Amino acid sequence: MPTVEDVPARLLLGSGPSPVPYRILKALSHPTVGHLDPAFGALQDDLAARLRRVMKTTNKVTFPLSATGSGGMQAMVDTLIAPGDRVVVGVHGAFGGRMADALGRAGADVVKVEQQWGRAIEVERLVEAAADEATRALFVVHGETSTGVAQPLDGLADAIHGHDGLLLVDCVTSLAGHPLDLDAAGVDAAFSGTQKCLNVPPGLAPFTVGDRALARLRRRSWYFDLQAMVDYWFADGPRAYHHTAPINMIYALHEGLRIVDEEGLEARWARHAVAHEALRQALAVFGFERFAPDGEQLSSLLAVQIPEAVDDAAVRGALLQDFGIEVSGGLGPLAGRAWRIGVMGEGANQEPQERLVRAVAGLIGGDEAAAVRALAEGWAAA
Ligand SMILES: *Cc1c(COP(=O)(O)O)cnc(C)c1O
Repeated sequence: MPTVEDVPARLLLGSGPSPVPYRILKALSHPTVGHLDPAFGALQDDLAARLRRVMKTTNKVTFPLSATGSGGMQAMVDTLIAPGDRVVVGVHGAFGGRMADALGRAGADVVKVEQQWGRAIEVERLVEAAADEATRALFVVHGETSTGVAQPLDGLADAIHGHDGLLLVDCVTSLAGHPLDLDAAGVDAAFSGTQKCLNVPPGLAPFTVGDRALARLRRRSWYFDLQAMVDYWFADGPRAYHHTAPINMIYALHEGLRIVDEEGLEARWARHAVAHEALRQALAVFGFERFAPDGEQLSSLLAVQIPEAVDDAAVRGALLQDFGIEVSGGLGPLAGRAWRIGVMGEGANQEPQERLVRAVAGLIGGDEAAAVRALAEGWAAA
């Protein structure tokens, strides 16, 4: 009979979860209090203020939903979209496809703007599709974790706000790892996740919603009833119970946000960009090539094409079993052809990256010294 002690520690360099630092594990094990405890309330208020800073928004309604990132997506659909709404969805990978699916199930009139996997969507094509006056919302994935591509947001808000539509964004993998200013981009609502660049275990979905979106709020979902969340998180008087907040996860997220604040958001973005480029150069020594062209890459995720001679499943299996390192395989059309390597928070450092580079060299027989040197040069260039 296994216990948790039988689950080994891993170096998590896949698409998430990412490495959880000791400080966050310690916060998780802090004694649980009640969800209406005033001391906990003070922590919630501070968490919301920190989350606004990391999301770069002044939206009052900025808090973690009790769900994983996908729950954030579902909450967005359930609370901001009505059946029959025309919604333009950018699809340039698996996560845009999931949103199109969720919207379709909710009865929205989904208009996909598709792009080949591995490229960003041309903003002009999104603008053109959103120009139709009937468009109620435009959704894009800022950091496409299936391909390692960052989607530019400039110009999208103007295209949709002209007829009072909403700009909706998935920033699960980009938040705290890739430059993102939600207010500057005119984003009306966005969701994220805790287990990517925040280095908190999976389980919460940071969520923000601004006034334009709040004016359209629907209460179709019982669990994701945003008004009920507002009455708990942002009550003027006593907080109203809706569901029991995941207390210890909120401790963990608070600690994760403190770590971001200590480093500084801009410094953290810069470190992720350096880490991404250093690892790209090191893996290029073995023949791994990034899918995203220069300028379209997402700092927090390096998706590479694996060399012909490398057996994807065998090498990733050995990385995990023999070296305790997790990297992710390709999704959809990239299955068997790609590795997706997380460059997320604690993982975006030279030491864990060197462990990966040395392990890969040991398994596929590349020039280990040259790759380690390329990694060091990438970090030295910072
Ligand atoms: C991980 C991820 C999600 C889903 O988050 P879960 O926590 O797995 O539910 C959604 N969008 C993107 C871009 C992601 O990387």
